[in-house]
Amino acid sequence: MTDLRDIWKGITSAESVAIAFHVSPDGDALGSSLALARILRSMGIRAEVFSQDEVPESYLFMPDVDKVRSDSRDTFDLGILMDCNSLSRVGAVAPIIEACPLHGCIDHHLPNETFGELRYVREKASSAVEVLMDILTANNVEYDADTAKLLMTGLVTDTGVFRFSNVSALTLRYAAALMDHGASAEPVVHYVYESRSLGALKLQGYVLSNIKTACDGKIAWVALSKELLDSFGVGEGETSGVGDHIRKLKGCKAALFMRETEKGKVKVSLRSREDFDVSKPANILGGGGHVCASGCTLDMPIDEAEKVVVAEVARWMDS
Ligand code: 5GP
Ligand code: MN
Repeated sequence: MTDLRDIWKGITSAESVAIAFHVSPDGDALGSSLALARILRSMGIRAEVFSQDEVPESYLFMPDVDKVRSDSRDTFDLGILMDCNSLSRVGAVAPIIEACPLHGCIDHHLPNETFGELRYVREKASSAVEVLMDILTANNVEYDADTAKLLMTGLVTDTGVFRFSNVSALTLRYAAALMDHGASAEPVVHYVYESRSLGALKLQGYVLSNIKTACDGKIAWVALSKELLDSFGVGEGETSGVGDHIRKLKGCKAALFMRETEKGKVKVSLRSREDFDVSKPANILGGGGHVCASGCTLDMPIDEAEKVVVAEVARWMDS
């Protein structure tokens, strides 16, 4: 179903809605989900947002984050996946969504699977917020300043502060509409990007000093063991974004940031320029994402993960 009026009618016909987003939540997952829940509540619908993981510290400034829950004894009429399109991405809260008699999906990721009767997935959209705003705009839905702040957080963070190639004229029009509703990019930039701990800044310095390259500099990467991360006193939440700096290397087509989150478990962030699709190697490695930003998690020691990931990306570089 892609008629945006039918989708909104379907969502707002429910008396209770459960919303869940992907594990390791970011500003877009939180912003789009909390905004939808806030709008539905203002319409008298019981709406709850569920997350396997705690809200990272840098997003605690967002309105309504205290309402995010990790479990429920209630049941819901409708279960919506936000900022992901497969139950496997939401982790431990998947059963809450699965138990609902009707399902929805609002997303912008590859691969585009088939979850949900009420589904609207636009892969070219900058963010799940942008996809949600397509629906809100098509239905002239009204929202308050706190909802605008939530939506702005997703737009700002998934576009790297309006710098990435996923920014379109529509993205900026939506941002302007959010400013008209009382939101601004500045607090998002302050809390998400410019409130780093000393350890996280020093880790960034270490990462930049230890970039390795292959394929004439077309692939650049850094792999960090758990011991090293611990020595900087930096938690998993604080490592996201550090890898984005690797892509700044001139001539680099794929930037890889690998970190051991626990012994034998490695989280990989892949970033690229438009002419190299990192979602393909990410997919082969059991993950996914977007053309320019993808991720996966590997169950192997960091040294092995480093070899496996670089070899897989190099294979796509040649083909
Ligand atoms: P990040 O590197 O920031 O964690 O993720 C980059 C993008 O890839 C995000 O859009 C994220 O949702 C997606 N992604 C990260 N890890 C995975 C994964 O394991 N599976 C899938 N399907 N997508 C992922
Ligand atoms: Mn997103």
